[in-house]
Amino acid sequence: MLNIYGGFSTLFHLLVRFPLIVLFIALIGGGVIYKSYKTSTIQPKTKLEAVVNVISNDASAAVPTKIVTAPVVSEVTGIPVIGYHRLVNDDTPRDQMVTSVSRFIEEMNYLHDNGYQTLSMDELVDIMNYQKPMPEKAVVINFDDGFDSALLAVPALETLKMKASFWIITGYAGVSPSWQKYMTWEQVADLSKNPNFEIQSHTVTHPYLDDSNLITWMAGTTKDRGVIDVVSEITDSKMSLERNIGKPVNYLAWPAGYYNAELIRMAKKAGYKGTTTTDEGVNKPGDNPFAIKRLFVDGSCNLEQFARMMKTKTTTICH
Ligand SMILES: [Zn+2]
Repeated sequence: MLNIYGGFSTLFHLLVRFPLIVLFIALIGGGVIYKSYKTSTIQPKTKLEAVVNVISNDASAAVPTKIVTAPVVSEVTGIPVIGYHRLVNDDTPRDQMVTSVSRFIEEMNYLHDNGYQTLSMDELVDIMNYQKPMPEKAVVINFDDGFDSALLAVPALETLKMKASFWIITGYAGVSPSWQKYMTWEQVADLSKNPNFEIQSHTVTHPYLDDSNLITWMAGTTKDRGVIDVVSEITDSKMSLERNIGKPVNYLAWPAGYYNAELIRMAKKAGYKGTTTTDEGVNKPGDNPFAIKRLFVDGSCNLEQFARMMKTKTTTICH
């Protein structure tokens, strides 16, 4: 009859007779403990300089900083990459393409006052690749499309010592269609000189339509567009940026979020270290740096709604 002591005795004999089993169990256990230590290590917060007033020539920036208490919602773990497009001082309707300069300044003050550390793309990807510990509170700030109005963000970002990346459509740099102005190559090069700012690629012509985007070009379903044009969008944008700013350009934003495994393979071949998408969510250690998730800030949201978005880390539409 097998009693409890008999069971232990059998187990003991098995372990003595098969030391490899013991070694195997120890290795697995050790690995699990190390991984959980690595992902939970908290980097000490950077000491941020207290800044009360943001210096800007913009009259609307004189709006006093509102004290916003964090909303009572549970915090989602992971690093949000928040995206902006145009900043305006006029009455253009606000949405995910348009934010007022004064609201932007309020949002940056909120992030600063609530202890968010801004990260560069390299820092984000190092965290995703387990090469750096996950900070307690961090955010990545993106400006897509290279509109010249994004330069209105610079005084606030500089005052608060925040990092940001600007994603340039190289075929539009210095070209201003009637409906919008884009940064000139000189402005792009100037931005890149600030160590807190980085310039990244957003292709050459930004194909974004349902029937004309990088996926349909690859598939050959868009007239007069094919694989060679896709290669040009991915590689020529990188090369002309690098030539103009004299620095490596390692990240690409997929126009309107159109990407697939084949496009990722081509981006890797072109030498990119990661690509950003319009997929919603946050980024964690172990996630794919070629499918970086982002949250686009809706300029029609008030500061409380922005604060809620930072807590829940889900896209918030307010109009
Ligand atoms: Zn875009």
